[in-house]
Amino acid sequence: MPREISAGAVIYRIENGIIYYLLLYYPALSHRAKKDYCDFPKGHLESGESDVCAMRREVAEETGIKDLKIVKGFRETIKYFFVVGEKKIFKIVTFYLAKTSTKKVTISSEHTGFSWLPIGEAVKNLSFSNSKKILKKANAILTKKPALEKKKNKIAKALILMSGGLDSMLAAKLLMAQGVEVTPLCFKSYFFGSDAAKKAAAQLGLSLRVVDFSDDQFEAVKKPKYGRGRAINSCIDCHLLMIQKAGEIMEREGFDFVATGEVLEERPLSQNKRSLDLIEQRSGLAGKLLRPLSAKLLRETEVEARGLVDRQKLEAISGRSRKRQLELAEKFRIKDIPQPSGGCILTEKDYGDKLANAIKIKPELDGNDIQILRSGRVIFEGETLIVVARDKTESEALPQLAKKGDTVFLPENFPGPAVLLRDFRCKLTAAQAEEIGKAYLLKFTKKISDTFKIKVDRIQ
Ligand code: SF4
Repeated sequence: MPREISAGAVIYRIENGIIYYLLLYYPALSHRAKKDYCDFPKGHLESGESDVCAMRREVAEETGIKDLKIVKGFRETIKYFFVVGEKKIFKIVTFYLAKTSTKKVTISSEHTGFSWLPIGEAVKNLSFSNSKKILKKANAILTKKPALEKKKNKIAKALILMSGGLDSMLAAKLLMAQGVEVTPLCFKSYFFGSDAAKKAAAQLGLSLRVVDFSDDQFEAVKKPKYGRGRAINSCIDCHLLMIQKAGEIMEREGFDFVATGEVLEERPLSQNKRSLDLIEQRSGLAGKLLRPLSAKLLRETEVEARGLVDRQKLEAISGRSRKRQLELAEKFRIKDIPQPSGGCILTEKDYGDKLANAIKIKPELDGNDIQILRSGRVIFEGETLIVVARDKTESEALPQLAKKGDTVFLPENFPGPAVLLRDFRCKLTAAQAEEIGKAYLLKFTKKISDTFKIKVDRIQ
C-alpha cells in the first residue's frame, strides 16, 4: 500500500500573556475532507528531507513564518488512510510544537484563510478529532511549564477587589484555599463607603486596604464612555477605573495579579461576556485579571497558564442564582452572609435624577455638593438648590454642611426643619434667597404660631 509522509506544526505565539494558536483553512479535498476544513500547517516530505526541515519549509511556504522555535519534547504522530480513485493510501503526519513572534501571516494559494485563536476556540475550530487531541497535548505542555514555578515555592500574591458582598469573599476564599496570598482592596467614593468591605475582610481574617477614588469616579459618572445602568450609574466605566487603579498598585507593589468577585451574567450590563472582556483589555491587565467564580467559563488567563493558580479548582458560576455561592459559603464556613445589595447610591434612580440635575447646573460640583444631595428633601428652583431636613438628625447635620455663599434657615421658637439654600450660580440677592428659604421652612412645618422667628445665617 502506498504511503505518504508529512510534517506539520502546532504554531503558537503569546500576546498579553495569552497563547494564540495558528490555524489554517483548507478548501475541500476529495480524500481527507469533502468539505472545507481547518487544520495546522503541514505538507509532504521531499526526497531526503528530514521531518523538521519539511515542517519548517512547509510552514514558511504556507504562512510566511520563518522564526519558529521548536519546543523540545513534543513530537506527535497521527496516522490515517485515505482513498484516491481506486487507491488506498496510508498517511503519517508528524507534528512539532513551535513558537513564533510573527503575528502577520501570508497564506499560500492552497488555503482560504487563517486565524490566531486561544485554546478553547482553536479546539472548537479544528475539523479533525486527532488534530484536536494534538492541540490539547501541546497546550498542556505550554501551560504545565510554569507549574514548576509554583513548585519552586513561589507563593502567588493577589490583590482582590472587595466590595463587601459574598461574591468577593468567596473569590478570596477560593484563592486562599490554593495558598495564594490575598490582599483585599476596596474603593470608596462620594457614592459608597467601605464599611461593608471592612466587615467582609475582617470575617476572612484579612486586613483591608481602602482607596478613595471619589473625583475620578465622579468624572466617569459625568461622562461615561460605556453607558449607564438603570439610574445614573456608569458601572462599566466605574469598574474599569477600579481595575486600572488596582493594576497600578499591582505593578508598583509586585503583586502577581488582580482578582475580582465578578460572576458572568450576574449583572446584565457590567458582567456580560463582552463587558468582562472589554474591562480586561482596556484595563491593561489582559491575562492578569482573574475572576475565580466564573474562571472556567472564561478564557484561560496567564495566571492560570503559569500555574500560579490551579484553574481546575476555580468555579464556573454564571447567572443570578445564588445557589452555588451559598454552597461555597457553607463550605468555607462564612457565617455572616452579606445581603446582595450594592450600597452604591448611584444605582438609586431618585438620587441619580437629582445628581443629573445638579450636574447640569454646575458640572464642576464638589464633594460637599454631592453629599448635600443626600442630606434631606432636595428641591431645585431654577439654578438654586434647597435642602429641607426630614428629621432631627438631618436638622442637626445640615448646617454643618453649609459652605461659603449658602444660607441656612433655622426655626428659633417652634419645631421645624433646618433648611439650606445653595445658589449654584450666585444669581439671587440676599433678600430673594431669604424669601425662598423661609417659605420652604414654613411649608414643611406642621404648626406655626403668629410669633414665629426664623434664624437666617448667610455663610461668608
Ligand atoms: S454600582 Fe456603583 S460602585 Fe458599583 S460599579 Fe456601579 S457605579 Fe461603580
